[in-house]
Amino acid sequence: MNRLMIRNIGQLLTLRGASGRPKTGSSLSDLGIIENGCVAIEGETIAAVGTEQEVWHRLCQRWGERLSDKADVMDAGGRVVMPGMVDPHTHLVFAGTREYELEMRLQGATYLEILQAGGGILATTRKTRQATEEELLRQASSRLDRFLQYGVTTVEAKSGYGLDWKHEWKQLRVARRLHETHPVDVVSTFMGAHVVPEEYRNDPDRYVDIVVDEMIPQVADKGLAEFCDVFCEKDVFSLEQSRRVLEAGKRHGLMPKIHADEMEAMGGAELAADLGAISADHLLRVSDRGICRLAETGVIAVLLPGTAFYLMAPFARARDMIEAGVAVALSTDCNPGSSPTMSMPMILNLACLHMRMTPAEAISAATINAAHAIGRGWQIGSLEEGKQADLVLLDAPHYAFLQYHFGINLIDTVIKKGRVVVKNGQLVRR
Ligand SMILES: [Zn+2]
Repeated sequence: MNRLMIRNIGQLLTLRGASGRPKTGSSLSDLGIIENGCVAIEGETIAAVGTEQEVWHRLCQRWGERLSDKADVMDAGGRVVMPGMVDPHTHLVFAGTREYELEMRLQGATYLEILQAGGGILATTRKTRQATEEELLRQASSRLDRFLQYGVTTVEAKSGYGLDWKHEWKQLRVARRLHETHPVDVVSTFMGAHVVPEEYRNDPDRYVDIVVDEMIPQVADKGLAEFCDVFCEKDVFSLEQSRRVLEAGKRHGLMPKIHADEMEAMGGAELAADLGAISADHLLRVSDRGICRLAETGVIAVLLPGTAFYLMAPFARARDMIEAGVAVALSTDCNPGSSPTMSMPMILNLACLHMRMTPAEAISAATINAAHAIGRGWQIGSLEEGKQADLVLLDAPHYAFLQYHFGINLIDTVIKKGRVVVKNGQLVRR
């Protein structure tokens, strides 16, 4: 069995103690740092975490004497080791790009105006429907490579560019194949209710019927997704339509997630609280009442500052949410229209500089809380004995370098399930 010991870690960010429930309030700032730390890995699992002495002691009991003969040893050179980051909200599988919309937006067109004119999500839907499964796989796989180079070891991926069963199914199949073949783990969400397709423009309720009565049962039947999501937004899906979709998902065992209060305060956060959703995402315009309801019900707020940045919109009120006791997570929202990025470090920069999160809070939000936002807090997001060995070595002596620098990549090494998959910032070819 593969055994690896990483020693001489200047700052080991364990994020320990929150596998059962996400971090809130002041605990977001506690990264569980061990100075001069050491991590031992056996197979795909973390075997021991602690100071070098503690780990040696622990492993002597398990592996016997002369440890260095029994494990590969990596010297971290006094740098930072942290959990692999988790991205809990992406639209990973799509075809085509929309760089031309940037110029339209710079000339004053809004995101919703572009969408109403048949662009935006609908443009990506046309391209995604035309693409073959292999083409989608190839494009999404190269995006996952990029995620990995930026220190992300698990991503959630939504469907929602097919908007009919045949093509939604194709997207979900691609996500599953990526999960099986790519080092990054891919967790699937069904999002047939991403936008009303052009063919149902005059009868959106009919499209909701199809999502509820035909698509959701098939997704559940084939075990293609764990979560069900909806774009609850003015001129997209109403509160009532969103409720129908998410309740149908719930009846079929798909946990609700929701794109809530992004461009208008619609009461999406309150709906998430009513339904016991695992997360409410975006929340740029969430009401005070919505924040209170999220805190009361333990719905995780997944914040996507890349989208606010790229749409030149006001940022979500992360400080108010943290003070109210909401569990906050961070994500790229990787998609071709409103956040074309795979860089979680950039998201951490934006979280600090535009939402006033501290560097430590941002790291908790991008690791253990992000893991909880996709139901994986027990398995990933922290470095603790028995958890999956997903970790990152930064080319930095202090974790705050991740937010202090911007536009450069400080990820030196990525280990996924105990295997080195990025070395010196470069992918290790499989
Ligand atoms: Zn989204």
